[in-house]
Amino acid sequence: MKKNSERILLAHGSGGKLMQELIQESILPNFKSPILKKLNDSAVFSLGNKRIAYTTDSYVVNPIFFPGGDIGSLAVWGTVNDLAMVGAQPLYLTLSLIIEEGFLRSDLDRILFSIKRACRKADIEVVGGDLKVVEKGSADKIFINSSGVGMVSKGVNISACGARAGDKVIINGYMAEHGIAILNERENLKFSTKIKSDSAPLNGLVKDMLSVSRSVHTMRDPTRGGVAAVLNEIAQASNVGILVYEDKLPMTEVVKGACEMLGFDPLYVANEGKLLAFVSPEDAETVLESMRKNPYGRKSQIIGEVVRGSKRTVFLKTSIGGTRIIDMPSGEQLPRIC
Ligand code: MG
Repeated sequence: MKKNSERILLAHGSGGKLMQELIQESILPNFKSPILKKLNDSAVFSLGNKRIAYTTDSYVVNPIFFPGGDIGSLAVWGTVNDLAMVGAQPLYLTLSLIIEEGFLRSDLDRILFSIKRACRKADIEVVGGDLKVVEKGSADKIFINSSGVGMVSKGVNISACGARAGDKVIINGYMAEHGIAILNERENLKFSTKIKSDSAPLNGLVKDMLSVSRSVHTMRDPTRGGVAAVLNEIAQASNVGILVYEDKLPMTEVVKGACEMLGFDPLYVANEGKLLAFVSPEDAETVLESMRKNPYGRKSQIIGEVVRGSKRTVFLKTSIGGTRIIDMPSGEQLPRIC
């Protein structure tokens, strides 16, 4: 038992070490579900003869409007992507809005319009919701919880524990854009206006990938904690070592420059339209080719591989030829990023 005086910190919500600890020590011991234990992006279970994926997320991003998106599209696509990461076809969505008293009605309408467009783009339908208003100061503007349901096809088995030695690691494009876009907007940093969030629905891309291969073993979207956190989660869940090549990591010059100026390692910066896929080496090129034909995968790249030995560790081969360990993020880099 922890001391009664211990408090929740922002870092407990960062997607890094403290969050993992909180989940393992406080949350999981209360719920014995073997489905939950897998800690996949969506729970997958059978109902009758259908396999269903189900997921829930809350969105507290600050600011609520940012280049490349807003809290509405983020809530829809974030949930769509968590369904897609287990190979599910997203079908239905519910949304809960928690609004602070005094919030502009026109801003709410703008967010709802964005939700409508985002649903159309991802081919998902809002079928339910809830609305709460809290006193001024009890919440910041608006928070959104979204839950989604999808269907998993026969023969699709994608799980965080599925990566195996030899698998190639593929990313579908430029890293670190969402985190830097949010920071640029929030702190008024005046970096190039070309920095936009990569927020996007990935279900169409995943569908293309699965239509050419049944050897996509693992997928996850590197949101909070970035690529580094997800690689570590998968190295642990699959009990493997992962090697990543620094000179293969796709990044725009402007984001790279912003990260350098701010002292951020782009591997730890959030993405909202990226996925990491672990694919058997025989199928990796075919999957890569199919991804590059999709608008959300044009800059797809093999960035690394699963290596033998060195279990549960992620290594980076640097561009100057050295090797270093990529650890799980420890502190809080950017709160309220999504
Ligand atoms: Mg996810």
